[in-house]
Amino acid sequence: MAGKKPHVLAVPFPGQGHVKPLMRLCRQIAKHGIKVTFVNAESIHHKLLSASQKQQDEDDSIVMETVPDGFTSEDDPNNPFTLLETLPKTMPQNLTDLIQRINTSSPNEKVTCLIADISFSWIFEIADKMGAEPVGFWTPSIASLALTFHIPKLLEQGNLNINGSLENGVIISLSNEIPSWRKDELPWSFSSDPEIGKVFFETPKRGIKDASKANWWLCNSCHELEPAATQLLPNALPIGPLNLLDSNNVGSTNFFSEDSSCLRWLDTQPDGSVVYVSFGSTGVFSQQQLDELALGLELSGRAFLWVVRPDLVNGSPVVYPPEFGTGLGKIVEWAPQNRVLSHPSIGCFVSHCGWNSTTEGVANGVPFLCWPYFADQFHNERYICERWEIGLKIDFDEEGIRSRYEIKNKIDMIFSDNKLKENALKLKEMCGKSVVDGGTSWNNLKKFIDHLYRR
Ligand code: UDP
Repeated sequence: MAGKKPHVLAVPFPGQGHVKPLMRLCRQIAKHGIKVTFVNAESIHHKLLSASQKQQDEDDSIVMETVPDGFTSEDDPNNPFTLLETLPKTMPQNLTDLIQRINTSSPNEKVTCLIADISFSWIFEIADKMGAEPVGFWTPSIASLALTFHIPKLLEQGNLNINGSLENGVIISLSNEIPSWRKDELPWSFSSDPEIGKVFFETPKRGIKDASKANWWLCNSCHELEPAATQLLPNALPIGPLNLLDSNNVGSTNFFSEDSSCLRWLDTQPDGSVVYVSFGSTGVFSQQQLDELALGLELSGRAFLWVVRPDLVNGSPVVYPPEFGTGLGKIVEWAPQNRVLSHPSIGCFVSHCGWNSTTEGVANGVPFLCWPYFADQFHNERYICERWEIGLKIDFDEEGIRSRYEIKNKIDMIFSDNKLKENALKLKEMCGKSVVDGGTSWNNLKKFIDHLYRR
């Protein structure tokens, strides 16, 4: 029997890798005739608008709202540490006020469901109080979610210390089918500074208490990519890869201004010939490492499309080594990544292995050269290289640098290894099937939508 008219209110953690996939999900929900309100923290909202150079989002199937986040001009809203510390203090009351306002002004369209990720798990408490259903949205792999739910046990067994790091030599394995985790490779391992590391660990640790309130965890993955992890978590509902459901660019969800001139440049390149190089929204380089990458790309003798964000080099302006010429390459500050990866000219993805980039590369059948920095990126690399066998890792030299020669050699190996490309195409096909009528992710999304209507 039909309940109240569904109205979903979704609140992303203000990071690039969170806003974009949640918007992709919301568009799918809205396509099924459900009202969706998307709520951004104010500072991020301004950043998104200025990057997209629009006055407001063009997608009118979704109502956009903002809530004050309490940042002063001294705060850096790009710093995840600041976000994790500040937002739980300022946002809960502002969000509660917003929901009350919506419910009072439109009694026939009261919020019935709140979607949030574990970094904002306090939202589940608000959902409870306001009679809305709390639903989790998980942006990394399902394996990372399984590990996160495992935190109490790991603490109890003494494998994790109070800062959330693994004791030396400890390896965590949840199943033979899922790559294991080692020190500094945990989803919350963002910093080697124990004080900062503790804050990053506190968020999921606290989050899983509230997380038990959510009956559903919508995950940007699919059963075919992570069968074992899906089995470990009965309330995880894989509904991705979401980039396949929404392949165009996603409204105002870019943190940087997108340069789509590279698509025309890609049109001039032969199929499977270009190395695409991108490190997501947060990774930073030392000047020495940037030099090595630039010279490695040049040494490879291949055409490359390289995303060099203005803040890529530790806060300093980007300076290329004098001997570097971009003859065969093109550099942009921010690319329409999903469209780039689906372009036939792309032959290899040099990636930091953030989960969105991982699923975007996988869903487009592109072999990877893995360049992880922190957190879950190392585990994603293991999925790519060990489990799915669609990529290679770049090793460090004895000085902790990924050298130009190593970069060139690994690029050569990717292009000469047909097996990697074959495996990547198989995985692309499986992902493609999962999101269309009757596929595993399609069925899961339908199950969720039906539930929203029945509630
Ligand atoms: N992205 C993009 N253009 C770029 C680089 C990245 O649109 O030039 C997008 C990418 O497609 C992905 C997101 O930014 O959806 C990055 O998310 P990911 O989880 O890969 O990495 P994070 O930025 O969270 O480290």
